[in-house]
Amino acid sequence: MPAADYVIVGSGINALVAAALLGRKGRKVVIVGRNDRIGGAIRTAEITAPGFVHDVMATTRGRSRGFTTSAPRPTRDPD
Ligand SMILES: Cc1cc2nc3c(=O)[nH]c(=O)nc-3n(C[C@H](O)[C@H](O)[C@H](O)COP(=O)(O)OP(=O)(O)OC[C@H]3O[C@@H](n4cnc5c(N)ncnc54)[C@H](O)[C@@H]3O)c2cc1C
Repeated sequence: MPAADYVIVGSGINALVAAALLGRKGRKVVIVGRNDRIGGAIRTAEITAPGFVHDVMATTRGRSRGFTTSAPRPTRDPD
């Protein structure tokens, strides 16, 4: 594994946003997760019948605030 400036444990939305902000600043970030897919509680999965995908937990974030990347930026920088 290449040397990283930051190691983030877990791949939920907060980890992904922190990693993106740090990456924008040129920092090397490694995300370590325990699941086979990223997203934490905010992800879509085929959990009922084949071909039918569902929001597993969070269901209103995208519709009420726009997609995550267009949401207001955090006031505190993680770096
Ligand atoms: C039932 C439910 C419904 C919700 N509905 C909404 C909604 O409608 N709208 C909305 O805006 N929000 C909703 N939320 C809240 C939203 O899902 C959370 O605020 C958001 O997902 C939190 O993101 P996070 O990155 O902080 O944590 P999480 O999404 O919980 O991600 C944390 C990740 O870290 C991993 N992890 C933890 N410990 C370790 C470890 N030791 N090693 C490796 N990996 C680890 C976990 O497996 C997980 O993947 C809901 C939450 C729940 C539980």
